[in-house]
Amino acid sequence: MTEAVGFELREAGRGISPGRDLDSLVERVLEAGADVFFRIDSPLGPVFVAVGSRGVTRVDRAGSEEEFCRRYRERFGRLLAPAGKRDLDLAERLAAALAGRRVEVPLDLERMTPFQRRVMSVVRGIPRGEVRPYGWVAREAGSPGASRAVGNVMARNPVPLLVPCHRVVRNDGTPGNYGFSPREKVRLLREEGVPLEELSGSPYTATPNTGVFCHTTCRHARRIRPENRLAFRSPADALRAGFRPCRVCRPAAV
Ligand SMILES: [Zn+2]
Repeated sequence: MTEAVGFELREAGRGISPGRDLDSLVERVLEAGADVFFRIDSPLGPVFVAVGSRGVTRVDRAGSEEEFCRRYRERFGRLLAPAGKRDLDLAERLAAALAGRRVEVPLDLERMTPFQRRVMSVVRGIPRGEVRPYGWVAREAGSPGASRAVGNVMARNPVPLLVPCHRVVRNDGTPGNYGFSPREKVRLLREEGVPLEELSGSPYTATPNTGVFCHTTCRHARRIRPENRLAFRSPADALRAGFRPCRVCRPAAV
């Protein structure tokens, strides 16, 4: 049954009706006492996605349905039932969200601490094609200096791709680690058009034309012509050189 759902997902994203598909699923989850899982193609290859009554609880690559269900039972103490034909609308929405499109998908992060949830919320807002350093995520989450703690949250991210932890990089602009291997992170970022070579060693870009500096992948920085670009290793360097932080990507506290 789940194979059929996966097969019909090639045209993912058409005719998505937000809300209604999850409502009917919620009823069924509550009735059956089991969460539902989907097998969906994603930029990481086929993944299993588990959905409970409050939203998506887990995204993972696993060898088999049995393995995914067993691990889920151990971690969440809940049974999983395969999604069926009537879950096709939600499956389409999940496939679009996994592919990095701006589709609203509810996440169930109840098991996380307030700090972890703030980190997840910040990371969820990093646009496709852009990256941000761990230190920035920590500051935006209200805990400046907590880069390492952010790294720990990312390493245990229960919903990769839906919360795009692959878009969080080391403070020097190099890609750093990823739950599914650093090589996979580099591949995902290249597919999203992130200029990794340029980023490495010069994660900040400024232009004298406006006096503003940005994260190098900020959409404003990408528009600066090569002859007008200045590269910086840190926000402190850019500030010392007299540049102001961009209001959109907020590379330093304003
Ligand atoms: Zn910017």
